Amino acid sequence: MYNRLKEGFSLLGLSVNEEQIDQLIQYANLLLEQNEHMNLTAITDPLKICDLHFLDSACLLNYHTFAHQSVIDVGTGAGFPGIVLRILEPTIQLTLLDSLKKRLDWLESVCDKLNLKNVQFIHGRAEECSLSNDYREQYDIATARAVASLPILTELCLPYVKPNGNFLAMKTQQNVEELNTSLPIVKTLGGDTPNQFDYTLPFEKEARRLLIIHKIANTPKNYPRKWSKIKQGFF
Ligand code: SAM
Repeated sequence: MYNRLKEGFSLLGLSVNEEQIDQLIQYANLLLEQNEHMNLTAITDPLKICDLHFLDSACLLNYHTFAHQSVIDVGTGAGFPGIVLRILEPTIQLTLLDSLKKRLDWLESVCDKLNLKNVQFIHGRAEECSLSNDYREQYDIATARAVASLPILTELCLPYVKPNGNFLAMKTQQNVEELNTSLPIVKTLGGDTPNQFDYTLPFEKEARRLLIIHKIANTPKNYPRKWSKIKQGFF
């Protein structure tokens, strides 16, 4: 894993130190160990964990500045991209949100073991927690990977972002219509037209797409809607 990460970060043009590589390897080992007892990841080959979890998450650092930013990772699962970003950019004030308490408890133990301080954990549904003033429009950046289609994801994530902040949606390039179908909800929730960045990962052929949605206005009070409405779509 050490050599794979070293080479991968070098191919991405990202500089990492030995402590950060050690933390990632420790994280991979904790993930593989816990994956025997809890469904955390379908990827069990250590090199693939480096490529598809760590390097994939790290790519965001090439498209946005994270230093000293408050970041909420919505639907973080086993901590992607949030924990990887926090390891690589220690000044991030990180919040991890997920509806599965067991995963968050495990992530809290990972943060303890990796000595990652000041990480916050929110247990709950994304569309419910953002109704609270404690979390609504409190973050410079919201990230999400593999949680929902872009129109749904926008309603789950954009309410957390401060005006002038950004929502970073990690996607593949398979769903070409996603961007167009998302525009009405993006605009309604205070987002500008998304900026799209296409790239490939080191050692992988499948193309990736990052959508960055800049928030230009407050999200109206009647959003997000209840889950039963969100999943019906936006007309
Ligand atoms: N982001 C991680 C990744 O890329 O590996 C996890 C992806 S996993 C497929 C989706 C995660 O989103 C799960 O942990 C699930 O519990 C969480 N999730 C899905 N819908 C959610 C919602 N409405 N609110 C909070 N968490 C949600």
